[in-house]
Amino acid sequence: MRASARFSGTTLPAPFALTERPVDFSWSPEHEEFRHKVRAWLKQNLPPELCVDDAADERVAPNREIFEKRRKFQAQMNSAGWSGLSWPSEYGGRGAGVIEQVVFDEEYSRARAPVLPGYSGIGLCGPTLIQWGTEAQKKTFLPRILSGEDIWCQGYSEPGAGSDLASLQTRATDMGDYFLVNGQKVWTSGAQYADWMFVLARTDPAAPKHKGISYLLLDMKSKGVEVRPLVLMNGHAHFNEVFFEDAIIPKENLVGEKNEGWKVAMTTLMYERGGGGGGGHTSQVRRLAALARNIEFDGRPAWEQEWVRQQIAQFAIECEAARLTRLRSLTRRIKGLPPGPEGSVLKLFGSELGVRIAQFATELLGGFGIIGDSTKAVPDAPRWLNRVLSSRQYTIAGGTSEIQRNIIGERTLGLPR
Ligand SMILES: Cc1cc2nc3c(=O)[nH]c(=O)nc-3n(C[C@H](O)[C@H](O)[C@H](O)COP(=O)(O)OP(=O)(O)OC[C@H]3O[C@@H](n4cnc5c(N)ncnc54)[C@H](O)[C@@H]3O)c2cc1C
Repeated sequence: MRASARFSGTTLPAPFALTERPVDFSWSPEHEEFRHKVRAWLKQNLPPELCVDDAADERVAPNREIFEKRRKFQAQMNSAGWSGLSWPSEYGGRGAGVIEQVVFDEEYSRARAPVLPGYSGIGLCGPTLIQWGTEAQKKTFLPRILSGEDIWCQGYSEPGAGSDLASLQTRATDMGDYFLVNGQKVWTSGAQYADWMFVLARTDPAAPKHKGISYLLLDMKSKGVEVRPLVLMNGHAHFNEVFFEDAIIPKENLVGEKNEGWKVAMTTLMYERGGGGGGGHTSQVRRLAALARNIEFDGRPAWEQEWVRQQIAQFAIECEAARLTRLRSLTRRIKGLPPGPEGSVLKLFGSELGVRIAQFATELLGGFGIIGDSTKAVPDAPRWLNRVLSSRQYTIAGGTSEIQRNIIGERTLGLPR
């Protein structure tokens, strides 16, 4: 695809000046070849029973059987060198560039492949360990993250600490060779299947709240760790409460310096926000167009209404804008820098777009929107119901929309606090 950015006749002030050079978004022959390789591998190896329509809405497997099948698929991907694509090869990754990662993600989503059970390890904890971990931690954990032998969950949020994460109260008392952990986490996605948790705990209660926090690696099988699943309104136990009662974490599982865990925690969050807000909206817009053709308003297809077509076209434009913004944000990654606050723009825009698409679907669906069974008029009613119920989660998970707006205002636009 080639997009021209030629503008003439308008003189804009320096920061907004537009380049005369056409922007070329076409893929190089090497990247096209890479794409064919990924596509062919997925075609041959992805079990059809694992395919999902709305992968992002089912990041956590609905049951143990599906979880184990997905874990096996992750191991297969790892053997073929697809797990941890952009990780450095010295840590078991493919050492591929960010462009390859984008191409891979496009093909993966096109094939309707599921989110890997190791997504927290591969996307969040692993890159954080690569930046902050000791050599021993990297050697122990990184290969098992890629293979799916160890599945990780994120122990950040607590009942009194979400947006204001630094208010967390879980305590890790220094006992010499180990920490003794007491407290509670909540909204812990996938903890019911996880082998390990990267957890934030307070190691110096007397210090100001952003200080005195440490980043620790907890074996979920440790004595004193209890996981209680929470069932969502769509019936899915996506996340959990996790309780710690005198759980032991050996000292070698401290990441970074003791009491300096906030910096490490922020690295993880940058990777989380850089991941974008749910994504996959282009396929939702295609489904929306199909729905508009199928469903009737006053005996005529909804598609015949101009406002319906215009709204769907608007969504398609916004999806393309999001895709191009994501490509633009890759410049930083190509330079070898970790994701920056621009991830907040993508997270905010992507997650809110997902909600608006789902809301518009409810306008088209009318009464069908609350029916969870397939009907002649809406054969994919269960998927739409799930989408409508699930879309909101992305405006909360990984930092709410209000928090992203604060970050954009303060760190990207330089507005006063
Ligand atoms: C699907 C999903 C999965 C999740 N998975 C995990 C996980 O695996 N691990 C984990 O640790 N956590 C997880 N979370 C928790 C998530 O990180 C928190 O829900 C989120 O940070 C918000 O915190 P909170 O729920 O305590 O809401 P609060 O922080 O109490 O916020 C309540 C409301 O106040 C607003 N608000 C708060 N502070 C400000 C402010 N300074 N300025 C403006 N508005 C503000 C918020 O935007 C929100 O609307 C998950 C959440 C969801 C929805």
